[in-house]
Amino acid sequence: MTEIIDIAIVGGGPAGLTAALYGARARANTVVFETQLPGGQIITTDWIENYPGMPEGLNGSRIGELMHAHAEKFGATFRTFAPIEEIRPDSGGFRLVSDDGEALARTVILATGSTPRKLGIAGEAEYTGRGVSWCATCDGALYRGKIVAVVGGGDAALEEAMFLTKFAERVHLIHRREEFRATKCIQERALSNEKIEVHYNRIPVEITGHEGKVSGIVLQATDGGPDEMLALSGVFEFVGVHPNSDLMVGLADLADGGWVKVDSSMMTSYMGLYAAGDVTDTPLKQVVTAAGQGATAAFEALRYLDSGVCTL
Ligand SMILES: Cc1cc2nc3c(=O)[nH]c(=O)nc-3n(C[C@H](O)[C@H](O)[C@H](O)COP(=O)(O)OP(=O)(O)OC[C@H]3O[C@@H](n4cnc5c(N)ncnc54)[C@H](O)[C@@H]3O)c2cc1C
Repeated sequence: MTEIIDIAIVGGGPAGLTAALYGARARANTVVFETQLPGGQIITTDWIENYPGMPEGLNGSRIGELMHAHAEKFGATFRTFAPIEEIRPDSGGFRLVSDDGEALARTVILATGSTPRKLGIAGEAEYTGRGVSWCATCDGALYRGKIVAVVGGGDAALEEAMFLTKFAERVHLIHRREEFRATKCIQERALSNEKIEVHYNRIPVEITGHEGKVSGIVLQATDGGPDEMLALSGVFEFVGVHPNSDLMVGLADLADGGWVKVDSSMMTSYMGLYAAGDVTDTPLKQVVTAAGQGATAAFEALRYLDSGVCTL
């Protein structure tokens, strides 16, 4: 007989792992489908210092491990699958389809998060993995004693720039505007770091290379100044994210930019189908909001199951 899952969660980042904890703790058959190690984007960052109750902060991968263990302790099941390719309404519930197989669920919580944006400039694709990176935690140690650039102006850009100063001799921080949008206390620390050199009003237009590796970046001035070329070995890009919402196309409503529209119960426009975390159209993309939305989505999915509306 085919197993019927009560709550299928697609994505094992902070939103999916928290939803799994709440679903499993309520004794619902809760299954997380994830393609990688649990933790989502936080496994790409060294330190999270703004999760409540952890004033000293904690390593991102460690938070992922703890969230995973917490959900598993209460009975959530984890399936490391090929990516879920389709979510299809079926028999009053949903069929999840991947190259590894299919599963049937009464409710689904989409927690597929987001993917870093690319600059889309010359040299970026050619030197990806050969000096161009989106993960300072993964690649920072390769740049001991070298010069690197960080592109971006938000919290992630400034935090990762500070992290990179542990290894690099100099970090060029390149921002297209005159002011950063990062949280003020993060700005204060980054700007007082002697290894960080800020380049305001500069847009990267090309990543150059030599013998198959990054050798520099060309910056265009937005304030009328001349273009400049910085010689360096690595370029780290933190210029925002886009939602992993392809599974919702044609199934649930999407907002501009492809973010999944949700109501206050985290339900999408399709009954029984919820979304939580970075993939949604809610403004704050952080661990604490992803966790809160995951909890709400699981709580509401449980109420939906209890209501008897689902016929599967
Ligand atoms: C460099 C960096 C630094 C950051 N620093 C902080 C910080 O200091 N504090 C903070 O609060 N936040 C920080 N963030 C933001 C935070 O990481 C995100 O807001 C949070 O991870 C969102 O959680 P999520 O569960 O919604 O999505 P994600 O973390 O993106 O997880 C989504 C998961 O879904 C999986 N997935 C996607 N598609 C499929 C599919 N089709 N099938 C199966 N699985 C799928 C992915 O593999 C991934 O594991 C940072 C982000 C980055 C990139």
